[in-house]
Amino acid sequence: MSDYPLSDFTLQAERSLGKLGLNDSLSLYLHIPFCRSKCHYCGFYSRRCPSAEALGEYLDVLSAQIEAVNRLWERPFSTVYIGGGNPGLIDGDALYRLSRLCCANGRPVEFSMECNPEDMDTHIEPSLEFINRLSVGVQSLNPAALEFLGRNATLRDTVRGMETAAEYRERYGTALNFDLITCVPGFENASESDIRSVCADFNPDHLSLYSLTLEEGTVLGSRLEAGLLAPLADDVQADILLRQWKLLGELGYAHYEVSNFAHEGSMCMHNLRYWHIEPWIGLGAGASSTLDEPYRRIECAPDFRDFCGLRPFRTYTTQTLDRKQQLEEWVMMGLRTADGLGSEECRRRFGFRLPDDLAFRGYRMLNGFFRPDEEGLLLADAAAVYTVGRLEALL
Ligand code: SF4
Repeated sequence: MSDYPLSDFTLQAERSLGKLGLNDSLSLYLHIPFCRSKCHYCGFYSRRCPSAEALGEYLDVLSAQIEAVNRLWERPFSTVYIGGGNPGLIDGDALYRLSRLCCANGRPVEFSMECNPEDMDTHIEPSLEFINRLSVGVQSLNPAALEFLGRNATLRDTVRGMETAAEYRERYGTALNFDLITCVPGFENASESDIRSVCADFNPDHLSLYSLTLEEGTVLGSRLEAGLLAPLADDVQADILLRQWKLLGELGYAHYEVSNFAHEGSMCMHNLRYWHIEPWIGLGAGASSTLDEPYRRIECAPDFRDFCGLRPFRTYTTQTLDRKQQLEEWVMMGLRTADGLGSEECRRRFGFRLPDDLAFRGYRMLNGFFRPDEEGLLLADAAAVYTVGRLEALL
């Protein structure tokens, strides 16, 4: 594999990576687009895994691409994240090889892997030599809600997966995240009791709490279109979120992004890099990369057959973002975080400081940062529209 050919992607990556200084950092994201079945709310690129052979072929291509990037970067990645889909479907030996390859230039400070609870099993254990953070897609502890959401895991599978992950934390110090879904129509009160029991029984280092979205093209989206399902009203959702965010605060979690909560020192460094627009390379069907200087977005087509079948890296396309697009992205991502937008960083990125009179419901300028309170985080998207409108004129 050492003579794996260069192509547009690697040339683009080489140019961009070459511009990063020795003190700069780069993260790696790997997308595994396979699941056992499709959840009713899922709008991600993921599909049923056709066969063990197909998964093996996909991992071979992915590994060759990691090797190519390893050769270009020649340093440890700052963070690594294997996401999906459900990376828990990868067998133990293949997962070990993949994890080791991601560390070929040295260990990242954080190495996360997502896994559905029904696949949180002993095959993962050897790879915990490299992986130091597990993210388990719990979603709900209510059997009827799990069914409504179309989850593959039963409540029993879910609890067993959480217990296994907690054992690994005990044995290896692996940090633990649980994903939960809230604002599910018909189960408005379920997620509050989920939060209470998850925290009482497992005390995870990190929790992601996502509001259910009813997306077009999903089973729930079709039910909505057919009039068989009504979304929760905005004010009902806002009440639920504010109540649950408060509860998580009382349980000792810092609310550091709209949907993310962490004990001290346990924020997800990889995701923080997305929100702060730090460079990362995403490999795999449906993955995207963001590389700085000039600001490039590289997308890999969401088609695993093309990914495996076409010539190396041919399914990646590159777009250079203009300054307005960069500003929009920086504002949109930054306003989702408790850190907000920094005036000094705005000057470094765009050549001007944030105006002192920036103000929006729940957001205000304080000590050089435009930051939200809890109410502000409910309105992050609207605040972004306002802020982009104000800053565009200064570009
Ligand atoms: S497990 Fe995750 S990626 Fe797979 S179908 Fe469900 S929500 Fe989508």
